[in-house]
Amino acid sequence: MSYVDEVIERVIQENPNEPEFHQAVKEVLDSLRVVVDANEESYRKDALLERLVNPERQIKFRVPWIDDAGQVHVNTGYRVQFNSAIGPYKGGLRLHPSVNLGIIKFLGFEQIFKNSLTGLPIGGAKGGSDFDPKGKSDREVMAFCQSFMTELCKYIGADTDVPAGDIGTGAREIGYMFGQYKRIRGLFVGVLTGKGLSYGGSLARTEATGYGLMYIVEEMLKCHGLTIKDKLISVSGAGNVAIYVIEKAQQLGAKVITCSDSDGWIYDLDGIDVQVLKDIKEVKRQRLSEYPKYRPQAQYHEGKGVWSVPCDIALPCATQNELDLEDAKMLVANGVIAVAEGANMPTTAQATEYLQAHDVYFLPGKAANAGGVATSALEMSQNSERLSWSFEEVDQKLQAIMIGIYHNIDDAARKYGFEGNYVVGANIAGFEKVVDAMNAQGIV
Ligand code: NDP
Repeated sequence: MSYVDEVIERVIQENPNEPEFHQAVKEVLDSLRVVVDANEESYRKDALLERLVNPERQIKFRVPWIDDAGQVHVNTGYRVQFNSAIGPYKGGLRLHPSVNLGIIKFLGFEQIFKNSLTGLPIGGAKGGSDFDPKGKSDREVMAFCQSFMTELCKYIGADTDVPAGDIGTGAREIGYMFGQYKRIRGLFVGVLTGKGLSYGGSLARTEATGYGLMYIVEEMLKCHGLTIKDKLISVSGAGNVAIYVIEKAQQLGAKVITCSDSDGWIYDLDGIDVQVLKDIKEVKRQRLSEYPKYRPQAQYHEGKGVWSVPCDIALPCATQNELDLEDAKMLVANGVIAVAEGANMPTTAQATEYLQAHDVYFLPGKAANAGGVATSALEMSQNSERLSWSFEEVDQKLQAIMIGIYHNIDDAARKYGFEGNYVVGANIAGFEKVVDAMNAQGIV
């Protein structure tokens, strides 16, 4: 059996009931076969892949908090510090009822390669809790965040591990967590990113993942003689990533006709009104079903459906495994030319294969949504030098990073004979830097 297959099998055996983690490991290791096979003897001797798929540290803790009625609740908190070969651990905190160790491990594993692709010195990690901020009062969210940070603060630091936002963790949650860290440790340092502008946040961080996605899509299309202008785009999600994808896509002259939340989706043939969307989601924290009240021509549908709409470009920006084989078939039948992942692993393995087999340009999340973590790393730099850069400066750096990522993954794919396969290109390019650093640092 090949070394890759042996390691995949062991991961499945040793981490039962973690299907998303198995999926992520399989996707990465499968596409690294050409590199691993060429170095099999030395990698085996050094147990390189075993070290790569085992987190350096995983922390699981109790998070008790009291609701407004005086009832005590107990959630579970996680931080998986996966790999620090190229820099301090970096990765978001997800607050969603679906969170479990397997989900955090899949996200942490992907984060290693994504962070490497940014070209910045950041290792891979992820954390979160099964707490659901939806429907909670601000006071309840604060109670949870303070309790969560009371434990987490023992394991993180500006030079060791710098968490950020993710699903369910926005500016409000980061603010409460930062305040609690500062209170307990007595340190005003850049221990979290995604902070508010008044206490060390970076301009353009809020926009970064969405804008970054559009910058890399634009570069990819440009290299294939195409542009974003006048394209019809379908987006899923209505959170941080989706909102700023829609904003930048419209600035670049495209028309975005869908968005969604976990209850339903909007079809607005005149183009999603991003100001209305921001008002509903960022200000009022309402459900998307409210959207037609502001835009009567738009349709609201319960359940899933964004991928059934004809579009040129599909951008899944909600959650893992939200675009399956049936969705991929509909997209191809409707003439889609490109799919780029704003969310982490939103496309199932079968759907990815189908899209690639039908010559759809496919950009995987670890490259396409890396603008968020890249700008988080820029926030760390600003915190270290106690300076704030202008929006334009950060945005220009973000754009350069995303264009650099596209060419890095495109070159890696070509170098190994997989021209146009950006999944293989991203995994190999991300892996090579991490492996080089791991080898240089000995068996640790
Ligand atoms: P938000 O919490 O801001 O928004 C998430 C959106 O996706 C919401 O509209 C939410 O709907 C929807 N959603 C979440 N879970 C589900 C589900 N199980 N089924 C259907 N819809 C769902 O999160 P972000 O926008 O920050 O993150 C979205 C994705 O992008 C995630 O995969 C995240 O890991 C990834 N990502 C985020 C980055 C960032 O900088 N924020 C960086 C890189 C990747 P509802 O409100 O109903 O729950």
